[in-house]
Parts: sequence; structure tokens; C-alpha cells
Amino acid sequence: MMIGAPGAGKGTIAELLAKELQIPTISTGDILREEAQTNQELKEIMDQGKLVPDEFVSEIVIKRLQRDDCKSGFILDGFPRTTTQAEFLDKHNIQFDHVLDLEVSEKEVIKRLGSRRICKSCNSVFNIVTNPPKQENICDKCNGELYTRDDDKPESIKHRLEVYQEKTKTLLDFYKQKGNLKEINADPAIEEVFKSSLGSIQ
Ligand code: AMP
Repeated sequence: MMIGAPGAGKGTIAELLAKELQIPTISTGDILREEAQTNQELKEIMDQGKLVPDEFVSEIVIKRLQRDDCKSGFILDGFPRTTTQAEFLDKHNIQFDHVLDLEVSEKEVIKRLGSRRICKSCNSVFNIVTNPPKQENICDKCNGELYTRDDDKPESIKHRLEVYQEKTKTLLDFYKQKGNLKEINADPAIEEVFKSSLGSIQ
């Protein structure tokens, strides 16, 4: 499980770990963004940087986890984000070997999110400063078009950070008590964060 503020690198590290461990990544943000293309109400919630209702997202997660590809393990990226969601996982007896807490400074988050670009087709993540695509606005992996997420605009970023402090940070105590929380310094470059993430679960 990946926990961390927006911009901590959860999605990127989850993808790298998934490749290394040969298990799928389930990103609630990716699933919801897809869904939001045909659901205006959902899109508005997300664009403002607010959380979508617990029940809605929990339902999506449980359905996704029932698929065969999750049988030998999975990485959950972006869920749980509230104590209610964490309790939902417990209630369904979905347990985790490792909970990675990517700790990042606010200064670094603001720097990262403003320059983040996502592929419209395969959701790969780039950063025009630290990890630029070879061709401007074109995905290296699938040649898809890159875009800036609506919730990566300054006002939404501010709100997402507040939501993280208010609702998600309390999860750290929840998992600390369970004893499987690993704290990772997520300020350095991706390669280094990946190395410490992998090291923490081996
Ligand atoms: P992410 O891609 O993880 O940054 O998620 C983008 C947005 O999707 C969030 O700002 C929320 O609006 C929504 N979202 C993703 N995961 C959850 C969750 N577990 N609970 C509520 N909202 C979520």
C-alpha cells in the first residue's frame, strides 16, 4: 500500500515496484479519472481536489481486487485515504505486507505537481523538469498526448494538501499501530526513492 501527500511520487514508485514484483498496481485516481470522463459530478469533485465519497470509491476498489490478476498480490495506490476506507479494507479482511509512507516536503510537492504531465492514453507520468519526455508533449512509451491534470492547478494543489493533512495523515497512526508502516524519504530523485522503497520491503 502506498500512502503519501499528492506529489510524493506514489504512482510512479508503485509502477516501478509493480514491474519489479510482477504484480498489478491499482490506482483509484486513474480509475476515477477514467470514470470522470462520463460523470460530470465526479469530475467537478476531483478537479477541485476534494475526495470522492468513501462508499463510491470503496465499491470500485473491492470490485477491482476481485479480478484474477490480484490473486498473487497487488499494490494499492491512492486508497485508503480516510480512516473509513482503511476500516473498509479491514472489514473485508484485505491485509497488507507493507505500507509505504512516502514523506515529502511541501516545497517539493508544489515544484513537482506544477510540472507534472500525464499521458492521455497510458497514464504514464512525466515531469517537464526532472523527467521530461524525449519529444515535447508526447509519451515515450506509447506516443500518446501528454496533459496537465485539472487538479494539478495551484488552487487545487493547495486544497489537496489540506485534505491530506486533515484526512489522510491520520492513517499513518492506524498503520503504525499495526506495525507494518515503512517511512520513506520521498524528497530525493525517483531512482533513489525507488531504491529505498524496494529496500524497505525486502
Ligand atoms: P490521485 O491520482 O491519487 O492523486 O487521485 C486524484 C483524485 O481522485 C483525488 O484528489 C480524489 O479526488 C480522487 N481519489 C482518488 N483516490 C481516492 C480515495 N481513495 N478516496 C477519495 N477520493 C479519491
